[in-house]
Amino acid sequence: MLPFIDLHIHTRHSDGRNMVRDVVRHAEANGVEAIAITDHYHMIGYERTANYIFEIRESSEEASSTRVLVGLEVHPSGNAIPQLLDHVKKNLDIILFDPVDADPSLLSVLDRESLFEHFARVYREASTVPWIDVIAHPFCLGRFSGVKHFSDIEDWLIEEFIEASVNGEKYIEVMNEMIWWFPNSPVRRFTKEYIEFVKRAVKMGAKFSIGSDAHCSQGVGNIMWSRMVLERAGAGAENVINIEDLSR
Ligand SMILES: [Zn+2]
Ligand SMILES: [Zn+2]
Repeated sequence: MLPFIDLHIHTRHSDGRNMVRDVVRHAEANGVEAIAITDHYHMIGYERTANYIFEIRESSEEASSTRVLVGLEVHPSGNAIPQLLDHVKKNLDIILFDPVDADPSLLSVLDRESLFEHFARVYREASTVPWIDVIAHPFCLGRFSGVKHFSDIEDWLIEEFIEASVNGEKYIEVMNEMIWWFPNSPVRRFTKEYIEFVKRAVKMGAKFSIGSDAHCSQGVGNIMWSRMVLERAGAGAENVINIEDLSR
């Protein structure tokens, strides 16, 4: 049985619609065991980070049956992975890395080969950064040039990514809204192809995180697709993140 967790949620601190408190209340009402608030770091800004962390901790005290983790989603900026100050890191429970640049227009000018090379490099680099816990929605490529279906992604890139994640002890996120990233691929086909990727990662010893990437409180805890994909790929609770293991 897979845990009922949702470790990828946005609030009004970045591009989400609702306040932290509403998100936490929805999670608890829906029986979610643990959530992580993971707003975009570049949208919060360093100056507001302390306030962000404080607000999440405060709201979490109100929840009696849902664990609330303080997280961030960090993007490369101008192709470089940003630095996080030690005192910021030590106040966070979980950090997600999204390979898409804070300025996505940098990627939309790349042709397919350069895009694959770019993602390979970014994934390789991220897997060696100690403070990154989770690689968010891997292969979020279907909105860039030359990638319509998941199967358009070349095998070497998938292989390299799984290997780097396993060696770097990064959790691979199975994000519930993954089809958003592949608007031109039919849901059934996309799901089947993504299951094959997850199956391969299970065989190679990967561990997974689960997240809705909800941008409004109603979406919190919607992890139905993620669970179905993980189950069909043969993943059990032992392949999924145990939040007690998160430490930095
Ligand atoms: Zn993201
Ligand atoms: Zn996100």
